[in-house]
Amino acid sequence: MNPQDPFLDEDKALACVHCGLCLGSCPTYLETGNENDSPRGRIYLMRSIQNGRLSLNGGSSPVTHLDRCLGCRACETACPSGVAYGQLLESTRDHVEHHATRSLYQRFLRRWVIDTLFPVPWRFRLATWPAMLIKRMGLESYLPARFRDALELLPDTPSHASLPALAPCPVQPSRGKVGLISGCVMPVLYGKTHLATIRMIHRLGFDVVIPPDQRCCGALHAHGGQLAKARNLARHNLQVFEDQDCDHIVVNAAGCGSTLKEYEHLLAEEPGLQQQARAFAGKVRDYSEWIMEAGCDWLERLEAHRRDGWTPPAPLDGPTTFHDACHLAHAQKITEWPRRWVRAVAGDQYVPLPEADICCGSAGSYNLTEPELALSLQQRKVRHIQGTKASLVVTTNPGCILQIRAGLLKQGFKEIEVMHLADYLDQALESLAVECQALPAHQNQ
Ligand code: SF4
Ligand code: SF4
Repeated sequence: MNPQDPFLDEDKALACVHCGLCLGSCPTYLETGNENDSPRGRIYLMRSIQNGRLSLNGGSSPVTHLDRCLGCRACETACPSGVAYGQLLESTRDHVEHHATRSLYQRFLRRWVIDTLFPVPWRFRLATWPAMLIKRMGLESYLPARFRDALELLPDTPSHASLPALAPCPVQPSRGKVGLISGCVMPVLYGKTHLATIRMIHRLGFDVVIPPDQRCCGALHAHGGQLAKARNLARHNLQVFEDQDCDHIVVNAAGCGSTLKEYEHLLAEEPGLQQQARAFAGKVRDYSEWIMEAGCDWLERLEAHRRDGWTPPAPLDGPTTFHDACHLAHAQKITEWPRRWVRAVAGDQYVPLPEADICCGSAGSYNLTEPELALSLQQRKVRHIQGTKASLVVTTNPGCILQIRAGLLKQGFKEIEVMHLADYLDQALESLAVECQALPAHQNQ
């Protein structure tokens, strides 16, 4: 790309009327108080780069402030003018990555760790082995601080799962076929959450297909300024899932879900793929969204059990709070459904979390590329969790689980657990021996 090529959709950038209503929702502005770290300031910087008023390299480079953006899209939720901030950020980051000069460390991190290692589960898994060995031998203190912080994010016992290509519903005939997005981090660190998700889909009476040839959704690349790579992955996944002809496609990582739902925009320059991308996105559902739509009366039954004095098994029985993953709350606008499930199980033990939808500092790979600000946001989140006196935090994204758990451990709150909603509901329903809801053949939809 030529440095002079326009990268920003000027009309979309001009939709910002500088009202400042988004400032109080922007985690980085809340932390630094610097206008350049606010949505309004960043949009101004983006336009200044496009108009040639600011250079990417040199003394007053705007790259620092653009790098500090979490891409959490809380500003979109707050913005009354409907500014598509996420889209502006993605195209600006693509321009920045192709024209800005970065340090050797940042180049290594972005090209080799984030672009090459994380999106391929076998590579990521291989990389966790020496990391786990260092952890188990207690050798972290010999590492430089930035590597030590990265190591702290890894769970002590990653749960790897080899997933089958097809997991038929145990009760047949099933109600249909659900495709599961396996993702990059989930199968390596949270395989048990995938298994809990599969059990839930089975309980709802559907077969599960997990195409082994699916690849990373492209979120890491799209958010990190590698749009061409993200588009290649999107094209590949569209074809893989079209071949499967699923009724629904379920994803249990909020960051992946928002990218998958936005394939139509990602592939906007390819008119031939628009219809396919729209049809695909029409089937994609976040786990919390799909279980609400799939049709069951468990929510009411859980609420009724709670009223009748049922107590869920430990650790679900203590004060419980819910943290919103940014890409579920702000990119997909789903906040109420996961809460309803948590409230149904926790009953009067549910405690609301102040600033629940303010980013925990994970933001994909942000805790690696911007460790200082990620740490401040992690501490802010832990402070709020501690204030609720909760013994359990439920959320919907693996990155949030890693970041919040690491923050709690670092600050000595070992007893507070962090759990994915899929594991949480699996344990609750398991304890009630909820049966599979596959329908008799004559009612099969
Ligand atoms: S709320 Fe929207 S229009 Fe107002 S400053 Fe923020 S991005 Fe711009
Ligand atoms: S995406 Fe998040 S961090 Fe970035 S400007 Fe918007 S609110 Fe702030």
